[in-house]
Amino acid sequence: MRVLWLIPLFLLGCSFIGGGREERAVATRGAVCGMPEIQGVSIGDVPGNGACGIEKAVAVNAVSGVSLSRPAQMDCHTARTLNAWVKYAAIPEVGETGGGLATLEVAAHYACRTRNNRPGARLSEHAKGKAIDISAFRLADGSEISVLDHWGGGARGRILKRLHGSACGPFGTVLGPESDRHHQDHFHFDTAEHGYGPYCR
Ligand SMILES: [Zn+2]
Repeated sequence: MRVLWLIPLFLLGCSFIGGGREERAVATRGAVCGMPEIQGVSIGDVPGNGACGIEKAVAVNAVSGVSLSRPAQMDCHTARTLNAWVKYAAIPEVGETGGGLATLEVAAHYACRTRNNRPGARLSEHAKGKAIDISAFRLADGSEISVLDHWGGGARGRILKRLHGSACGPFGTVLGPESDRHHQDHFHFDTAEHGYGPYCR
């Protein structure tokens, strides 16, 4: 059993190496990726073990006026994709519910790890700075549209279903509660290109 505990610790350690770089970055908050709508900090190349890491990474704080609950590290292609989806899909789909979309609750972003943290599995898109996990959409009135609480029914469930659907295409991979047991409480979005079109479940 002890070995099973050590493996995730090793994988976590890898992401901490990448995280240390952020502290040395020049803290110029503002527009990144050449787009005023994307607010964050350019942090340069994030080194990682093996194939992990991000070239010309940014830590995104907000897109199109919607804040992120914590700075999310990603590449500019992923940041632009997130911005476009928030602007053209998420904001209109949430509409006036709860006063409108205010914050994306970020469950995970860059991390040097395998898919679903399984030893021996392929490297996750999270390890390349191409993925973000969102557990809830916080609204202006302080309430939430939560993947765990609202998926599967009701007005907020229907909004979640539309958010999941609209992300499919802009993002190459979209996973939600109907994909597997690892995604009961969040949406996984990444900009992987599969060749056969987007993979959405
Ligand atoms: Zn994910």
